[in-house]
Amino acid sequence: MSTTRVADNAYTVALENFDTAANVMELNKDIREVIKYPERILTVSVPVRMDDGHIHHFEGHRVQHSTARGPAKGGIRYHPQVTLDEIKALASWMTWKCAVMNIPFGGGKGGITCDPKNMSQGELERMTRRYTSGILPIIGPEKDIPAPDVYTNSQTMSWIMDTYSMTKGYTVPGVVTGKPIPLGGSLGRNDATALGAFYTIEHACEHLKIQLKGSTSVVQGFGNAGSYTADLLSKAESKVLAVNDSTGGVYNKNGLDIPALILHKEKTGKVAGFKGAEPITSDQLLALECDILVPAALENSIHADNAAAVKTKIIAEAANGPITPAADKILEAKGIFVIPDILCNAAGVTVSYFEWVQDEQHLFWDAQDINKRLERIMKASFTDTLKLRLDHKVSMRIAATMLGVGRVAEAVKLRGVYP
Ligand code: NAD
Repeated sequence: MSTTRVADNAYTVALENFDTAANVMELNKDIREVIKYPERILTVSVPVRMDDGHIHHFEGHRVQHSTARGPAKGGIRYHPQVTLDEIKALASWMTWKCAVMNIPFGGGKGGITCDPKNMSQGELERMTRRYTSGILPIIGPEKDIPAPDVYTNSQTMSWIMDTYSMTKGYTVPGVVTGKPIPLGGSLGRNDATALGAFYTIEHACEHLKIQLKGSTSVVQGFGNAGSYTADLLSKAESKVLAVNDSTGGVYNKNGLDIPALILHKEKTGKVAGFKGAEPITSDQLLALECDILVPAALENSIHADNAAAVKTKIIAEAANGPITPAADKILEAKGIFVIPDILCNAAGVTVSYFEWVQDEQHLFWDAQDINKRLERIMKASFTDTLKLRLDHKVSMRIAATMLGVGRVAEAVKLRGVYP
């Protein structure tokens, strides 16, 4: 996937999608100038004492794309290929995503270029705390609220919350979401993204008259988003034919035993070597004939060179930006129904919003309450997006971007441009 990620700059992709949606909407030029670009970008040096005693310099970023509708909101990614352009793209998608869900947040994103798989817990903690202190002036419950993303988790959020709170002199749970429950985390956050993706798959199946029960599915990426989505699909009696992660893939034409595979991954750290399955390459996995394909890894995994081989009816983008614009055109010509990232994986940020609300109120909801609210929001957003698609004869991606961009544009119009 790495070569394609270099070839397709995520920020160029994000700007291209914005322009397409803005053109269909005939969005006023002045408003475009205000909402297209990131409001604030901060790059920080993150020197960390490594376990062998030497100091290593990492580079970290925090981008606030928009605060027009509320505080910036978005995850923090630790990955060797993190670039500022990638973070800018992800921050802008967060803006449209929060607006598609109609939650009162803007968009932000952060990241550190590092290789977390080859770092100890101590090194990760020191890097996280130093990065937090670097971005501290611009984050806070009313300013910008980070969350986990690729290779960060609830432990990372605990360190950020603690570092921020130590500096303030009192505990501030609302500075991050995706925290563990004992620190003010919300029930339902861990599997929220997958549950939301699953709801959108159900709505898409209903729209396309595909029976989920007895269908076939394939999942690329087996981390938080991918493994929970695979689990929900298998519980709904969709046959999950293949899944993979960064180290390899597994395939079984009769469907994989997902709960057993989750245990295998917990034990061995990878899906490869799972009994009762054959190995499969990434290209073979994406080309499998199936009803539902769920990219749940990184950006640009479906691109101009492999899109023609994709043989599915629905693609549910649990990952952010997994399809390049060139691939989008190929998939559309093939009649594949794509549920775009800013709709499909938006439940993660929606339950993050619930967590922030609960932290601010100091009053916590039960899981049933959370899932009911989430289901309602996902349904409304899917229906609104589908309506725009049918009215304007555009793809679901452009329809969702139109919905998000339209809501941000409306906020900017009402607020006016300062000064
Ligand atoms: P994660 O770190 O838990 O999992 C990432 C998975 O992708 C891992 O299994 C990893 O091995 C796999 N992977 C990496 N490179 C791969 C490759 N080349 N081929 C196949 N698999 C590969 O991360 P996550 O939280 O599940 O995030 C995955 C995607 O979902 C990202 O695009 C993220 O932005 C998006 N997302 C996640 C959430 C969330 O709540 N977790 C919310 C919204 C969007």
